[in-house]
Amino acid sequence: MSSYDVVIIGGGPGGYNAAIRAGQLGMRVACVEGRATLGGTCLNVGCMPSKALLHASELYLAASGGEFARLGIEVAPTLNLAQMMKQKDESVAALTKGIEFLFRKNKVDWIQGWGRLEGPGKVRVEHADGSHSTLQAKDIVIATGSEPTPLPGVAIDHKRILDSTGALSLPEVPKHLVVIGAGVIGLELGSVWRRLGSEVTVVEYLDRVCPGLDDETARTLQRTLGKQGLRFKLATKVSGATATAEGVSLTLEPAVGGATETLQADYVLVAIGRRPYTQGLGLETVGIVPDKRGMLDNQQHRTAVPGIWVIGDVTSGPMLAHKAEDEGMACIERIAGHAAEVNYGAIPGVIYTQPEVATVGKTEEQLKAEGRAYKVGKFPFTANSRAKINHETEGFVKVLADAQTDRILGVHIIGPSAGELIGEYCVALEFGASAEDIALICHPHPTRSEALRQAAMNVHGRATQA
Ligand code: FAD
Ligand code: NAD
Repeated sequence: MSSYDVVIIGGGPGGYNAAIRAGQLGMRVACVEGRATLGGTCLNVGCMPSKALLHASELYLAASGGEFARLGIEVAPTLNLAQMMKQKDESVAALTKGIEFLFRKNKVDWIQGWGRLEGPGKVRVEHADGSHSTLQAKDIVIATGSEPTPLPGVAIDHKRILDSTGALSLPEVPKHLVVIGAGVIGLELGSVWRRLGSEVTVVEYLDRVCPGLDDETARTLQRTLGKQGLRFKLATKVSGATATAEGVSLTLEPAVGGATETLQADYVLVAIGRRPYTQGLGLETVGIVPDKRGMLDNQQHRTAVPGIWVIGDVTSGPMLAHKAEDEGMACIERIAGHAAEVNYGAIPGVIYTQPEVATVGKTEEQLKAEGRAYKVGKFPFTANSRAKINHETEGFVKVLADAQTDRILGVHIIGPSAGELIGEYCVALEFGASAEDIALICHPHPTRSEALRQAAMNVHGRATQA
């Protein structure tokens, strides 16, 4: 039996960052990962392949959809989907290899196989060749991530009815792709295939897209994606699906009930959320009971069982790679006896559509529900010189600040490079900055970041450029 200070089960952003930090702190650490490659959902079938396709499809659309011609660049592109997929797979392979390198550099043992708790302090690993080994550790971190939530009546067949993994590797451009769920995955992958030429219909149970996103930002996003040709069927539920070799026939009905209709698609993407993954983990051997949603409860990353910790998608909070990463590092610091905290109030979220959406902190709806008096400073990208030059004027920056103290409470950006821009406001939130602080800081011209400053200036009605 091999003995470690810490054994981490799962090699995604939560698990691999935890393992690396443990290695840096001089702990004897093993990371058990069952997949053939490290990096978890994020690197293998999530963040990274989706961003590779979003980037490639954005350029394809710019070349074929009129933007290049507008800039005076005459081209007649043809789509080589196989090459687009190949470059995505190559980037993913390079990234997963990168984690192997970081493990070697930080003296992390990658134990290849599926881990199962066998009572406190023990993890039994089943290897691909059928052999087993047992690891012993004072502390065990569960970082097993999540999997797509299934939709009853619309079974994933991995041929015509797909989850996000299938939609990242389609062999052809669908004529009509139906996406079930207008959340982050649905809108990002719906955008990819729309840009590559598919008709895309997004069916959403609620009467809005992206629940939880600031309302005004969500409405602007839906309108913009609508202009790009995505069709939305809101307040609608899918009550059945019949797949054939050629396509899928879906039965839809209003969410509140009523007459049904059918919708034909050649592919369907089910993207109605993800659920914690704990299959075969042996939780019963240590007495951990998941909650109704399958989530493992935690108090500062500790489960109720001493020596067993939990981080990332398998526990509460947003299912985001950087949240898993933060928790992984904080959890190891705590195991090492150091002080560490994750500030859940300052975890940004980004939707990588075009334009991008990026948010941090509270939404207007949350502030209203809390009864907190706030001021709004908005600035449109139509008034930002760099955005204008680049023909990227859709969207705005919205800063919400406390009406009495001026402290920044939330920021919502829809616009070009929003995912990069939000970093400034993450810093602002962490440092407890006021809108005036940002308004007084010199920003480079001509950049989109000037819109961040102008929005902060507008909390006090002082924007000079709109
Ligand atoms: P995971 O990344 O799911 O890793 C868990 C790992 O544990 C897996 O590799 C699994 O094989 C392994 N495992 C599970 N059980 C065992 C076991 N018993 N033994 C051994 N190994 C085990 N987030 C963002 O922040 N930005 C994005 O742009 C983004 N895009 C996404 C796009 C898509 C299509 C999807 C599906 C997700 C996306 N996410 C994004 C979410 C992000 O991928 C997750 O939040 C993140 O991967 C969670 O990290 P984790 O370490 O908790 O779990
Ligand atoms: P999501 O929670 O973002 O969206 C799911 C959508 O499906 C919601 O709008 C919900 O109302 C809808 N829905 C639920 N049940 C439905 C039903 N029966 N019929 C129709 N619609 C239904 O989930 P997702 O898009 O599957 O993404 C899963 C997770 O992955 C998210 O938590 C997200 O944070 C993460 N993710 C993040 C990124 C990013 O950060 N850019 C990208 C992709 C995924």
